[in-house]
Amino acid sequence: MSLEAGRRGIERAVNSVRSGGVLELGFFGGEPLLEADLVAELIDYAQQLAETAGISLRPGLTTNGTLRTAAAWAVMMRSNLDLSVSCDGLPDTHDRHRRALNGCGSSERVLDTIGRLREAGRDFRVMMVVRPDSVTQLALGIECLRARGVRQIDLALDVWAAWESSDVVQLEEALIQAATLWRNGLPDGSINWFDEKAARLASLPVNSSARCGFGDGEIAVAASGNLYPCERLIGEDKSDSPMRLTGHVLDGDDFFQWPASERSDPACFACDIASHCNTTCRCNNYIRTGNVEQPDALLCLLERVTCRETARVLCKSSLFCNEVFSIEESLS
Ligand code: SF4
Ligand code: SF4
Repeated sequence: MSLEAGRRGIERAVNSVRSGGVLELGFFGGEPLLEADLVAELIDYAQQLAETAGISLRPGLTTNGTLRTAAAWAVMMRSNLDLSVSCDGLPDTHDRHRRALNGCGSSERVLDTIGRLREAGRDFRVMMVVRPDSVTQLALGIECLRARGVRQIDLALDVWAAWESSDVVQLEEALIQAATLWRNGLPDGSINWFDEKAARLASLPVNSSARCGFGDGEIAVAASGNLYPCERLIGEDKSDSPMRLTGHVLDGDDFFQWPASERSDPACFACDIASHCNTTCRCNNYIRTGNVEQPDALLCLLERVTCRETARVLCKSSLFCNEVFSIEESLS
């Protein structure tokens, strides 16, 4: 990304936030720390504009944890940066999909980075992708990360993969185990899927990462300056991508013009647990069904099982029991 495109995107984002509001500025890739100096410069620029505009800045970055340059380390150690490191749990599981150009797995480097961050007292989250070929190792992967001192884990379903019915059965079994691990790890340990369901069950506000901005509150700027409603849809950033928003980051003063859409699957209107469901993630819907408003059976199952299992493990702790019973009745 050019410095000009980065600065312009930040200017437009700052112009799109009301005074007193918050700008979440996320860097992602590829690998953003390949351009660590540029990232640092853009965060400083955003901080300066945010202070002038009277808004708060919450910068974030997701890294694959493989870079060891001084500049990359300096960015990771910025105290106000919300840092995520991608690591898929067990080394063998991680190395299946995350390899260097020479074909070698990257788990050793990533786990070393995680260890160094821990030693430095740096708070961070680990992003763990759940795939059909790794779903049976989900619980072991969570335990592996926890044994290395990781407290906050964000699970992400591989929605691009083909999930066979046997994989879906294994996903449900893995979620049952993971929910128990989540419960046993409270209050220090966090796993996003169950945190979010617990918040919804308790009628607490869900954190911002569980709310979908998708073109209405969230805009992704590709390295080319092309605009998308969510970073996960940038992909190869092809000019004919159906998910590209019109225009370019250099043309315009703010990001106000794109309307939000709502979930439209008729099954969801009648669903008893709709208020606990997070299939408002429109890019997941789009990837699975080609329609940003319509989840498929896999996403629906993920929601229903995480909801049911969160309720189950919390009920054992006598928390939220009234709500839990009504949820379980809805699911039975
Ligand atoms: S589509 Fe999904 S990933 Fe994208 S902004 Fe919405 S919730 Fe986030
Ligand atoms: S649980 Fe399934 S049916 Fe219910 S709102 Fe979510 S996606 Fe729709």
